[in-house]
Parts: sequence; C-alpha cells; structure tokens
Amino acid sequence: LEHKIPIVKTDYLIIGSGIAGLFTALKLSAFGKVNILAKKELEDCNTRLAQGGIAAAVNDEDSPLLHLQDTMTAGAGICDYEAVKVLVEAGAERIKDLLEAGTDFDRKEGGALSLTREGAHSQARILHAADATGRAIHEALLKACRAQENISFSENHFLIDLLVDNENSQCYGALIYDHFHKEQIIYLARAVILGTGGAGQLYQYTTNPDVATGDGMAAAYRAGCELTDLEFIQFHPTALYSQDNQRFLISESVRGEGGLLYNSAGDRFMPKYHPQAELAPRDVVSRAILNEMTKSGDSYVNLDMRHIPNLQARFPTINAACLRKGIDISKDFVPVSPAAHYTMGGIKTNLYGETIIEGIYACGEAACTGVHGANRLASNSLLEGIVFAERVASQAEKIMAKPFNYSAGALATQNLLAPYSDSLQQEYDTIRSAMQKIMWEDVGIIRNKESLLKAQRKIQALKQQLPSLRAAMNHFESANMLTLAALVIEACLWREESRGGHYRSDFPERDDSQWLKHKVFVKNPAGGE
Ligand SMILES: Cc1cc2nc3c(=O)[nH]c(=O)nc-3n(C[C@H](O)[C@H](O)[C@H](O)COP(=O)(O)OP(=O)(O)OC[C@H]3O[C@@H](n4cnc5c(N)ncnc54)[C@H](O)[C@@H]3O)c2cc1C
Repeated sequence: LEHKIPIVKTDYLIIGSGIAGLFTALKLSAFGKVNILAKKELEDCNTRLAQGGIAAAVNDEDSPLLHLQDTMTAGAGICDYEAVKVLVEAGAERIKDLLEAGTDFDRKEGGALSLTREGAHSQARILHAADATGRAIHEALLKACRAQENISFSENHFLIDLLVDNENSQCYGALIYDHFHKEQIIYLARAVILGTGGAGQLYQYTTNPDVATGDGMAAAYRAGCELTDLEFIQFHPTALYSQDNQRFLISESVRGEGGLLYNSAGDRFMPKYHPQAELAPRDVVSRAILNEMTKSGDSYVNLDMRHIPNLQARFPTINAACLRKGIDISKDFVPVSPAAHYTMGGIKTNLYGETIIEGIYACGEAACTGVHGANRLASNSLLEGIVFAERVASQAEKIMAKPFNYSAGALATQNLLAPYSDSLQQEYDTIRSAMQKIMWEDVGIIRNKESLLKAQRKIQALKQQLPSLRAAMNHFESANMLTLAALVIEACLWREESRGGHYRSDFPERDDSQWLKHKVFVKNPAGGE
C-alpha cells in the first residue's frame, strides 16, 4: 500500500490559511519552498471573521510599555512577561509589514491611521477596517502570498498526524488526507508550522466556524508536544442569539461606542455587576449575562445600539448580519448571549514558535506563547499571529542548514492502513453535538467539581462510541475534539480557583498564593494520555 501514497517534498509545510499561516508563509518564501494546506477553503478560518481590529502601540501618546501593562492586567497575573514584551515591542514593525502587504486600514482625514479604543485598553490603539478587519488583512495576505512563486496552496487538505522520528524526536512531515480526491498524501518537510487556529467548536455555541476543532493541538499532542493553559477559554458576552452552533459576533466595539445591555424586565443590569458596567472585562460581562438569563429563564439579553452615531456606517457587517435575521439595529434591540470565542491555551512554544519536538512549530491561536495568560486582551490575537509568525520565520536559516534526507522508506505510521469511509456522517454528527452540549453545560462559563466530573464521565463514554471505521475527516475531527475536551476538563479540575476565563463556582476567588502556575500536558511516551 505504501508505494501508492503520493509523496510531496517541500521545505516548509504550513498547516492553516489564517493570519498565522499566511504571514509565516510570506516571510518564509524568501528562504525555500512553502506549501500551505487548509482543511476546507482558504477563506474558512477565524481570521476572516475578525471584526474589531488589531492592537499595536503605533500612536505617539502610546507606548509598548503601556500596551504591555494592559495585556498583563487582562491576563490576570499569569502572562509570560518575556512573550508579552516581544508582542508589544514588535507590534509597530509588523503593522508596517501588513501595510506593505496591502492591508487597507481605515484612515482619518489627512491620511493618518484611525485608531479606536476597546475595553481594557488604556489607549486608542486598535487599527481597523470598518468592522471587517480580519477580512481586509486576510485578503491582503492571500494576494501577497499568491504573488510569491515559492508558495503553493492546497485546499481540502486535512492534517491527520505529524510524522515524527521517535528515535531523534524529530518531525519530518505530515500525513494529510485530501478529502476532495479521497486520498492520503505524505508531505515531507524540513519544518511543519501549525497555524491551525483555536477550538471554539468544542462548545455548543461559538463564534468560531466549523473548522475550529483544535486539530493542530490534538495532532501536536499525539506527536509529543506540550499543551498548556487549556482551562482558559474566552467566552464572548455578545454573540447574536440564534439556535445555530456558530453564532455571529456583535463586536465589543459596539459597547465601546456606547451600546448598553438590558434584561427582559428592561433593567440596565451591568452597573450592578462592575464599576465599568458594559465595558467590564469579557468574562465578567459573560457571567453577568448568564446570571440574568438564568434568573429570568430567557435565552438572551438585549443590546441597545440605536443611539450610536453613524451606526450603520460604523458597523456595516453587523448591520447586514442583523438585517438578515430581520433585526434593524437602528430601531430594534439586538438579542445577544455569550458564546465560546477564543482558546487562550494551546501548543506550548518558546519565543520562536518552537515546540519540544524539533521541526514542529506553532503560531497564532493554536499556540500558547503565554502572551494571553488567563484572558486575552481584545485585539491582541491578530497581533500575536503576525508577531510570532515572524519569529518562526526568523529561524529559517537554521532550519535550512539542517541535513534533510528522510527517505520515503523510513515512513511508518499507524494511520496509513486505516480503512476509510464517508458513510458515517450521521454517527459523527451525533457524537459531535453530544460533546458540544456537555462542554457548554458542564465546562462552560461557570464550572465546578461536580459538573466537571460529570462531564469527564460523559466524554469518556463518547470516546467509546467513536466508530472504529474511520469516516475520513469526520473521524479525525471528532477524535481530536474528544481528546481536547478531556484535557480541558482535566485542566479545569486541576485549577481550584477562578482567574480570567476560568471560573469555578466552588472556588470563586483568585488565589495568587497557590495558582501562579500552569498545567502542562504531554503524552506519556508509552502511548497513554
Ligand atoms: C468572530 C470573531 C471575531 C474576532 N475578532 C477579533 C478581533 O477583532 N481582533 C483580534 O485580534 N482577534 C479577533 N478574533 C480572534 C482572531 O480572529 C483569531 O484568534 C485569529 O484570527 C486566529 O488566526 P490563526 O491564523 O491562528 O487561525 P485561523 O484564522 O482560525 O486559521 C486556522 C486555519 O487552520 C486550518 N486548519 C485547522 N485544522 C486543520 C487541519 N486539520 N488540517 C488542515 N488545516 C487545518 C483552517 O482550515 C484554517 O485555514 C476574532 C475571532 C472570531 C471568531
């Protein structure tokens, strides 16, 4: 069978076509051949959906130090200082790169960049392109990458597993499933860069698209990399209410510009929960909304944005999305409720995107550099994507200097002979939604020991239900999500305090005397978890 599997040899294999993957590709293309793979279309990623903007200290009144302080405060005591320093100091340079690549950020009259302010930022430092910043960046980067001869793209190419030579603890490529042509491909590469994004799909309600299943994290874990900070999931307080799994985000900048929250009795409830009211940290607003919903039995609260000046021009994407649901933001309340939004934890890397397995790099939301600590400061994730992508690329000469002579004969992985079938869609859908419901109800905005233990038992039972016949991409996505769900639960059980995105009703206080530490998962070399 082995000889039938096509083999592609490249220098850099980049998994993911979001900001992290594309920016790394652009920088690496000066050094060698780059292949970018995406599991669906290139446009299917979180990056494309980013609304509010990207943070960087580019204003004269601002400074990297102020940005550092805001980031560390949001991170609730456990950010990695060195990583945050790298993030804020490189910000302005990387923004220049984005401008050079053709990103069209909004400008003021006279041409200076227009900067806005978001919750928990002490300065106006958010560059934006109306309320579709991610799309503007993504389009510019895609175009810039397409102009490079050294970069090639493949859509519908799903990362199954990383190929690691266990003797040398070195990665030499990846096993990929092309689910369009229904064939497996082996990519041999000097370095594999995981820009596979977050895992919002672990939850019943999320702002993330269906591709955000944490595959890169799970594959890295199986390959022997470390995962960390998994208990810290950011729930965005204001997603547009619907029964859909993927909910449309109503950006924080709506509240930044004066949007107010009301419960169904017509009370503006946020001032009662926090002195900053609607502009309190995201986790505080999410819990307050959940509390109001639980008290009233409603499925949402109301966001009033009718009084915001220039409403439709300032928020055209939000306006259009609401209109599609029959809501006129200039006249109606907008029903909102929280949704899983951002994965603070992920594949543990150093300041150059390196993992503990040589040849495996990670950047963007899939990685955990430590910049976000227990809670991400708004608009820092796009910035993290480009800053650490560049740090990975800064290793290019070192990577190219390494001998690289893995012959196809050295390849052996347990997946190569797996039988594939596409006939089990229904079974996998059932497992996926059951898992999402468990995570939402028992490992969500508020957790406690009892709910976590219950979730642990249920996830274990679901693992037993995975059909042994692998239905290609569905199988691996489900297996990946169940692996991650179990680790998230373990991390939540471990942290017996509340901090940032992690709230335990049985340990509601932050406890710096015991918990200024991180839980790191690494697969037991004998094969267990
Ligand atoms: C609605 C929304 C609004 C947001 N607004 C902002 C904002 O205003 N500012 C900000 O800073 N951040 C924002 N964020 C967060 C930010 O968009 C993301 O953190 C960031 O874009 C992540 O980029 P990435 O490149 O790491 O991953 P992504 O952009 O998610 O890309 C991941 C890529 O990996 C691919 N992939 C995944 N698994 C596999 C696999 N097994 N095989 C092959 N390919 C795979 C996917 O197909 C995709 O191409 C927002 C997020 C959402 C969802």
